[in-house]
Amino acid sequence: MNPSNVAVRSYAAYDSKSELKAFQFERRNPGAFDVQIDILYCGVCHSDLHFIKGDWGKITYPLVPGHEIVGKVEQVGTEVKKFKVGDVVGVGCLVDSCRTCPSCKEGLEQYCETGMTMTYGSAASNEPTGITHGGYSTKIVVDENYLLRIPSTIPLKNAAPLLCAGITTYSPLRYWKVGSGDRIGVVGLGGLGHMAVKLARAMGAEVTVFSTSENKRNDAMKLGAHHFVVSNDRVEMEKRQTSLTLIIDTVSASHDYNLYLGLLKREGTMVLLGLPEPTVVAAVPLVFKRRSLAGSLIGGIRETQEMLDFCAKHEIAADVEVIPMQEINKAYERMLKGDVHYRFVIDLQSLK
Ligand code: NAP
Ligand code: ZN
Ligand code: ZN
Repeated sequence: MNPSNVAVRSYAAYDSKSELKAFQFERRNPGAFDVQIDILYCGVCHSDLHFIKGDWGKITYPLVPGHEIVGKVEQVGTEVKKFKVGDVVGVGCLVDSCRTCPSCKEGLEQYCETGMTMTYGSAASNEPTGITHGGYSTKIVVDENYLLRIPSTIPLKNAAPLLCAGITTYSPLRYWKVGSGDRIGVVGLGGLGHMAVKLARAMGAEVTVFSTSENKRNDAMKLGAHHFVVSNDRVEMEKRQTSLTLIIDTVSASHDYNLYLGLLKREGTMVLLGLPEPTVVAAVPLVFKRRSLAGSLIGGIRETQEMLDFCAKHEIAADVEVIPMQEINKAYERMLKGDVHYRFVIDLQSLK
C-alpha cells in the first residue's frame, strides 16, 4: 500500500452472476491536474448492469460500476485552475481521452479515435488497480478537464442521473435539431426515456411515449408527454403511422425496431440509444420513405456542461428513488423488470 494513495470503500461485482458486495481498494494519489472528490450521490444506469454481466464482452473483476457521479471537491492538484475545494462537481461516463484526435479536438471525446477512458472498466496504468472504477464508491480522482460543474439550483440527488441519462438523450435531440413543430417519439420509459421526455418537451417538441407498461401512462403525462401509446396496441400504432420526425429508442432489451420505423415521416430518423442484442432491420420502411436508422453515444464534456446549464435554465432534473448502497441488488432486480421510477440514485453516505 502506498500511503499517499486514496483509500476507498465501494460495492463491486466479483463475477458476472453474483450479487454486488463490499470492496475496498485504492485510487491514485492525485496528480498536478487531478481533483479528488468526495462522492455524495451516484445514479444507477442500465449500462452498469449490462457491463458487469459481461453483455458487451469479457471484463476484469472485481469491478465497481457507476458513471452518474455528483460530489464535493476535497483536494486539488497544484496545477488545477477550474475547480477549488468545496465546489460541487459531476463525473459522467468518461474520465480521459487522447485529447489530440479530430473527435477530441471537436469536443466529442466519447468518439475518441483511440478510445476514451471510461469511468469504470477501462485499463488505466496510473491507477493502483490497473483499471478505472466507478462511482458506487466513497471517493474518486479525476483530471479537471473531464469534470462538470453542477448548477447550484439543481438538487444534487436529482442532478446525478443527468451525467449519463441526461446527456445521452440531450445529445441526439440537439444533433437532430429538435425544436417547436417537431413531433418526437420516445420508446421505453425508464432512466433515459424519462429524461428524453422532459428535454424534448423543454425544446418545444410534441412528445409521444411508446411503452410496454400501461401503468406508466399517468407518469408519462406528468413528465411532460402529450400522448402515450402502449406499443402492443395495434389500433393506436396504426393511427400514428408516418407522424413523427424523430424517435429516441431507449429500450434496454431486444425488440423489433421495424414496429417503430413506420411511425416516422418521410426522411424521419430513429435513433438507437439502448444496446441490446442485434435485431434484423427490414429495408422496405427505410427505402420507401428515405428514413434513417441511427445511433448515438453519451456526449462530450462541452455538451454535457451545456446540457446541465439547459436543465438549470428550464428547471429540469431526474425523478429519483434514493437508495442506500446496500440495496443495489434489489434495485437491479427491479430495473430488469422495467420497474424504475425513474432512476435509482445511491446515497454514498450509506458507505461512510
Ligand atoms: P431502464 O431505466 O431500465 O429503462 C429501459 C426501459 O426499456 C424500461 O423502463 C422499459 O420501458 C423498456 N423495456 C425494458 N425491457 C423491454 C423489453 N423487453 N421490450 C420493450 N421494452 C422494454 O434503462 P436505461 O438506464 O434508461 O438504459 C436504457 C438502455 O440504454 C440500456 O440498454 C443502456 O445500456 C443504454 N444506454 C446507452 C447509452 C448510450 O450512450 N447510447 C447511455 C446510457 C445507457 P417501458 O416499461 O416503458 O416499456
Ligand atoms: Zn449510463
Ligand atoms: Zn481522441
